[in-house]
Amino acid sequence: MLGQMMHRDLSIIDILKFASENHSLSEVVSLRTEGDMHRYNYTDCLSRVCKLANALVGLGIKKGDRVATLAWNGYRHLELYYGISGIGAVCHTINPRLSPEQMLYIIEHAGDRLLFVDTTFVPIIEKLIPKLPKNLVIIVMASSDDSSTLSDNFLNYEQLILESSHDIIWPELPENTAAGLCYTSGTTGNPKGALYSHRSTVLHALTTSLNLGPSLGDGMKVLPVVPLFHVNAWGLPYAAPLTGTSLIFPGPNLDGASLFDLMDQENVNSAWGVPTVWLGLLEEIRKQERVPSQFQNVVIGGSAAPKSMIEEFESLGITVCHAWGMTEMSPVGTQGFLPGSMKKALSQDEQISKKCYQGRRVFGVDLKIVDENDNSLPHDGIASGELYVRGNAIISGYYKNNEATEEAFDKEGWFGTGDIASITTDGFLNIQDRAKDLIKSGGEWISSIDIENIVMGHPKVANCAVIAVPHPKWEERPLLVIVSNGDTCVTKKEIDELLLTHIAKWQLPDAIEFLDALPLTATGKVSKLTLRKKFSNYKLN
Ligand code: AMP
Repeated sequence: MLGQMMHRDLSIIDILKFASENHSLSEVVSLRTEGDMHRYNYTDCLSRVCKLANALVGLGIKKGDRVATLAWNGYRHLELYYGISGIGAVCHTINPRLSPEQMLYIIEHAGDRLLFVDTTFVPIIEKLIPKLPKNLVIIVMASSDDSSTLSDNFLNYEQLILESSHDIIWPELPENTAAGLCYTSGTTGNPKGALYSHRSTVLHALTTSLNLGPSLGDGMKVLPVVPLFHVNAWGLPYAAPLTGTSLIFPGPNLDGASLFDLMDQENVNSAWGVPTVWLGLLEEIRKQERVPSQFQNVVIGGSAAPKSMIEEFESLGITVCHAWGMTEMSPVGTQGFLPGSMKKALSQDEQISKKCYQGRRVFGVDLKIVDENDNSLPHDGIASGELYVRGNAIISGYYKNNEATEEAFDKEGWFGTGDIASITTDGFLNIQDRAKDLIKSGGEWISSIDIENIVMGHPKVANCAVIAVPHPKWEERPLLVIVSNGDTCVTKKEIDELLLTHIAKWQLPDAIEFLDALPLTATGKVSKLTLRKKFSNYKLN
């Protein structure tokens, strides 16, 4: 027997309409590429989104067309998220840190009709123009009087908004209509596209709002350092308006000092981003000997948060939420805010230990770990295997890529994450490594994340990474690459002493190399691929 309930298709524009009606005082504040601060509320935002949608229709955009963006975190980018999906087109966010070849590949693969570009990226696009598809229309996201970007090659964003009508009847779209497209950064091979739907996006917004509650709510202010150009800024462009949280967008300035100032001036309560960003912010906090005025919690994900980072934030009174997810998962899969009952029952040290895990699954995401024969392993905190996931906001295939799709799923339709993990009896996920980053030494596995986590706690270490280098006897051995904190380099003896309090002797790195900075991927994570290439001929003694 079926239930007797109405069916209403889930639709992204309904989130902004809701925010406009119910949270009209909550703001979107943006540090613009123009250099000034722009602020308005969700009602103003919706009003401009209506005009933008009409402008898109005027440019010939139809349902299913892909419209690309190449932009920082700011209000115009947010408007594009809603305006494009609202008319049934697909908002394709492009990561500006990709190489020009990768950008050209995904623009062509996606079949983009329009490309919206922040002024910062105009020089990149100007160089690419001869190779870009001839029918691609480029719109610069700048003020209507910005003469530096007025050229025959480009249209102007504010001009389009100015000339468009506010009146619109939003089309009724089936909830499985595609709404967003994001390519994984592709450390090997070509980038692969995750194509989100209205349904997956709205469900993800609901579960994020529910599970990351301490960051969100009317009266709260959240700073997404995580970019709108990758993994939907972890769902904040949807969860924030839904919950009435004000969005504070940092634009291009992501160094510690700029983030500190913005957070201080705008009374930011919660900030979300990858660990490398927080290294910079913590340095500034140490320099100023205080935290930004209203800073309450930090959501850390994208790569493992080191224990020393978690401890430092917590000792400053800032609650850490260690989260895990993937582009293919919209992206949030697990989150680490501890429930009140757990906080009461655990000492501060025990709470820190829990936070070193990547948190517990959010509602709507199922997790399983399997061995090499696809047998499910127990969630006992000991067994570790490849992590598989399923849920309503997880891809069912890669966009126009059958080969990658066939490789990614098991017989039961679960998606293989490529991460190696264990899961504790009380549901905490412990990511040990990307499968390809594990170090295979004499048939045993060494987790690079485990070693990095401990080494990051040494006062003479600013940043570090562990990679596998070839070894004639053991096949692979760990090499530790360190960026020093200050002028004195830590010695191998000091590192070994620290590590031996946590890991076995055979897991110690064989050697240490020092670099001025670690190479980063397009998404701000340490690029182990680049490090492996750099040290591929490394000779261990
Ligand atoms: P992306 O699709 O660029 O978001 O990358 C997803 C991958 O980042 C995951 O499969 C993990 O390997 C890694 N990752 C994300 N969050 C974490 C975390 N908290 N700890 C360790 N690895 C993470």
